Amino acid sequence: MTCDFSLAHYRDLLHAAQNGGYRWAGFDAPPEAGVVILRHDVDLSLEAALAMAEVEADEGAWSTWFLMTRSVFYNLASSEGEQAIARLRELGNRIAHHAAYPHVDLDDRFDPVVAWHNPDPDYMCAPIEGAVNVMGAPFFDPEHYRSDSNQRWRNGCPHEALARGELDWLQLLTHPEIWAYDGATMRESMESMLDADRAARLEHLRKDRIDLT
Ligand SMILES: [Zn+2]
Ligand SMILES: [Zn+2]
Repeated sequence: MTCDFSLAHYRDLLHAAQNGGYRWAGFDAPPEAGVVILRHDVDLSLEAALAMAEVEADEGAWSTWFLMTRSVFYNLASSEGEQAIARLRELGNRIAHHAAYPHVDLDDRFDPVVAWHNPDPDYMCAPIEGAVNVMGAPFFDPEHYRSDSNQRWRNGCPHEALARGELDWLQLLTHPEIWAYDGATMRESMESMLDADRAARLEHLRKDRIDLT
């Protein structure tokens, strides 16, 4: 098994957690022994989020999707954004807020759960009024947290530890863009994403009645 950043290996990770006897959980109750909390920060691409969500649904998994209201890469208020939220919910997922400090734009699209985008250490774990901060207690603990940032696992890919049931519980943060687009490096995955984005934008232009003849 190769620990690459592909949807195929993401599926392996889900299998590993299932084989390790874990069950899926969200941020509505303190983590118990035997749970894996799947968390996705959607920084760049709703299409990538939907592709990953289909893999999870296929495997009987569900997760919490942290969506931005102030992304320069996607517009959650567009028809595309509304459809993405609807599909994620339809697949049994939860929708939370990926907030750009200091703005917390919680509204009825979101559960009252927040993860800051690219946080500075001074506010990363601080309580947020009226919402759960997923990087605060009881959800964050370095021993029970793994993240795929920039295609680098700080403590290695967790699939083996999960399969062996070694972790008491885990908050597993993955960024869908890294897994949904091909590339052996972050740069290559981003180039794949930009190629796909060009095709999608051409289609938007057509729908917008732009003459591309
Ligand atoms: Zn792995
Ligand atoms: Zn982010």
